[in-house]
Amino acid sequence: MKRQPVSAGKLRRRGILLSVLAAVCVISVILAAVSDSFVCYAVAYDGEVVGTVASRTDLDAAIEEADAVAAMILGEEHPVYGGVSVSATLSSGAGSAEDLTGALLGSVEGITLRPFLTVDGQTVAAMDSEDAIEAVLQGILDRYSDENTVSAAFTQKAEIVTSYISDALLTDAAELARMLDPENADSPWALTVVTHESLESTEILPYEEVVTYDENAWSDEITVTQEGAEGQRLNTYTLVLENGAEVSRYLSQSAILAKPVNREVTIGAIPGSRTDSTGTYIWPTTGVITSPFGAREISIGSTNHRGVDIGNKVGTDVWAADGGTVIYAQDSKGSYGNFIKIQHDNGVVTCYAHLSEILVSVGDKVAQGDVIAKMGATGRVTGPHLHFEIRPDGVNAVNPVNSKKYLSGKPQR
Ligand SMILES: [Zn+2]
Repeated sequence: MKRQPVSAGKLRRRGILLSVLAAVCVISVILAAVSDSFVCYAVAYDGEVVGTVASRTDLDAAIEEADAVAAMILGEEHPVYGGVSVSATLSSGAGSAEDLTGALLGSVEGITLRPFLTVDGQTVAAMDSEDAIEAVLQGILDRYSDENTVSAAFTQKAEIVTSYISDALLTDAAELARMLDPENADSPWALTVVTHESLESTEILPYEEVVTYDENAWSDEITVTQEGAEGQRLNTYTLVLENGAEVSRYLSQSAILAKPVNREVTIGAIPGSRTDSTGTYIWPTTGVITSPFGAREISIGSTNHRGVDIGNKVGTDVWAADGGTVIYAQDSKGSYGNFIKIQHDNGVVTCYAHLSEILVSVGDKVAQGDVIAKMGATGRVTGPHLHFEIRPDGVNAVNPVNSKKYLSGKPQR
């Protein structure tokens, strides 16, 4: 490229322009009336015409702009002025100042119209095609993307611009990829890739227990009226990653797949168990007292009657006189016949003899008033009756009747 000292170049340009201007005036006057053509400025760079403009203003503007831009691109002072020459020419049409600027820039050695990449407004490098630059950028985004990736982008503003640029910035794909590599700590152009990933996870929703208290039931009476069932919720999280490393996540969507079903339970409100001993006793059957407690004389033997006999029909219900645990329930193979003993919480044992049928087993918990047997005539008897005993210490019987502690009055008939 030809260059001259600035002052000399400017002077020479001014001289050229003045003589051209004079020629234009003369030729215009002659030709204006007889032709569609008019005189304009033909601008050559290094001797080769690169464009025409109609006005002096456009001419100056185009050359100055081209020179300033080329100076910036190449880092040299006035790289265009030295190579420009202007002549008058007859033309039917002239170009714009902008076109001339471009044509001049394109003529300067070391400057080419090319696509190049800018990052946050700073020029990085040029390539021969936009597609080539796009491919490098996409390759970087793809490195941090997989099937879960929803979006991928650079935190920096990466733009492809096509304009005049120094050939020194022309690079190839491998080099541009190295410059932009997010893991290249040495590169000032290293990009940061932000990706969003979608992650689904199923959450178990526990069920709740709803308790209803029943005023008429004991506290150990628990009834499940509805079984509980866990629910399920599908949570979709969005993960935010920078260069593949998670930096945050948030819940982006949530859907109930199955609602939990409450477990519903009814619990008695009366403290204790229905089989707890109350410490009070009820007549264990209906009928008539046929033999009281104590000394007696009977045809078949015993002189000291350890219980009270209540006579009624075979099969009459026999009830537990109080709540407790059955500790004996079988044929005694002796005078008691079929025999039941119930242990109460206060140490008292009640006994039921001569039964026709035993309806409980050893270990059973019974409540006061539960039917435990049927009246009978098993063992040593003269007729069907219940022989009933109360043994306060578990061994020795006392009179169960007419005592504030035990039974009073008579059984119902
Ligand atoms: Zn008896």
